[in-house]
Amino acid sequence: IPIWTSNHQTMPPVASADSFQSSFDEDARPAPKADIALLNKLVHKKLEEVGEVQIKLPNQQQDPTSPLYSVKSFEDLRLKESLVKALYKMGFQQPSKIQEAALPILLVEPPQNLIAQSQSGTGKTAAFVLTMLSRVKAEDKFAQCICLAPTYELALQIGKVVEEMSQFMPDVKLRYAIRGEMVERGQKVQEQIIIGTPGKMLDWLIKYRCIDATKIKCFVLDEADVMISQQGHQDQSVRIHNEIERANPNCQCLLFSATYDDQVVAFAETIIPNPMLITLRPEEQALNNIKQFYVLCSGRDDKYEAMLNLYGGLTIGSAIIFCYTRKSAAWLTERLQQRGHAVTLLTGELPIEERALIIQQFKDGHHKVLITTNVCARGIDVSQVSIVINYDPPITVDKQPDFETYLHRIGRTGRFGKAGIAINFCDSDFAFSIIKAIADHFGKPIEQLDTADTEQLE
Ligand code: ADP
Repeated sequence: IPIWTSNHQTMPPVASADSFQSSFDEDARPAPKADIALLNKLVHKKLEEVGEVQIKLPNQQQDPTSPLYSVKSFEDLRLKESLVKALYKMGFQQPSKIQEAALPILLVEPPQNLIAQSQSGTGKTAAFVLTMLSRVKAEDKFAQCICLAPTYELALQIGKVVEEMSQFMPDVKLRYAIRGEMVERGQKVQEQIIIGTPGKMLDWLIKYRCIDATKIKCFVLDEADVMISQQGHQDQSVRIHNEIERANPNCQCLLFSATYDDQVVAFAETIIPNPMLITLRPEEQALNNIKQFYVLCSGRDDKYEAMLNLYGGLTIGSAIIFCYTRKSAAWLTERLQQRGHAVTLLTGELPIEERALIIQQFKDGHHKVLITTNVCARGIDVSQVSIVINYDPPITVDKQPDFETYLHRIGRTGRFGKAGIAINFCDSDFAFSIIKAIADHFGKPIEQLDTADTEQLE
């Protein structure tokens, strides 16, 4: 089956980045961090156990190679019985990697401050919820633990975990400090755990004085990396922290983040100077095992033809097709569907829950071919995908090659070292230059796929 039928031996004449500039399209931008975080939460229903844990101690602290610093079972932690019961009911049999390292520190007396970083799905939320529930006194009817999340939706996600883990603690109550929730000025909240977004929490704590900061014994800041990407949230979080710390210097302060770049480090250290730090270094994604190709086409129509040929010529196991814009993804989907191909569209205009559902169904094999944009790239684990097609090459908003996104779309971790195929369509000099830059950047060849050699794909 011919994959590229036109007679080009040189690059086609259309040469510009115009097709990428023609119309503004939300999906051409990277998804907001908060969306990615929420999508990950909705999609990760199981633990992601990859990477290697590292612990960095605060200065001056003795090396604790004592057994205190590692637990292999929940029993070792001497948790409240009601918590153990809930954990079993939730199907938690043993601590995850990050929990193994963090829980002994989180639960020790006197309380320790801690910063923990690991990618989503590794058990951070479960770890700090367990900590809050271990620290609360059910008989005390006032706020004792505060947890900050960057958005309304993320706060609700944490709340769900609190509800589940406290199912056998009927006297422990949770209150949300989020949009739509009201308190009366001066009237103290009676729930022991308060989860909320920074603005609302600041109001409740400082403006309305309905939380007594002297009684807060555990302060959790979740999704620190998302928090600092949002206007104003960083300052508000710091103010909340300072207020609590001033009122109760013994309050345990915990900070969690999926990534840990310089900005997060700087922010983390304003909240917790000289911290104990636990990081889970993720396994690197790499392009080993991935056969990479490009297909030259002379323009949009030719590209579509090439796509059709490819579609007809392959027994596609499961594939993802990436487009630059929402519009072109929708266009391609419609045309392939008209031809009777079973493809599913996943774009940023869908509500996030629906996106998560489609990703879940794709992972479960209900959808075989997904057509999507960058907006969804991070939520999808491509390990089971045999073919990734870049219908448009990945570029940043300022039209530079987007190496990180390319790797994310196509790369695999060692654990998922299965072979895969990546095919890049080039319908202009610009697109070709992007693919060339990507090949150079990773030092891995991207070969031309042509009609004479369909066996390349086998
Ligand atoms: P993170 O906060 O790092 O994204 P979560 O705490 O949300 O991770 O955990 C990811 C998923 O794994 C959740 O569905 C959670 O219920 C589950 N999980 C967490 N800890 C354990 C454990 N020890 N055993 C089994 N499942 C777990």
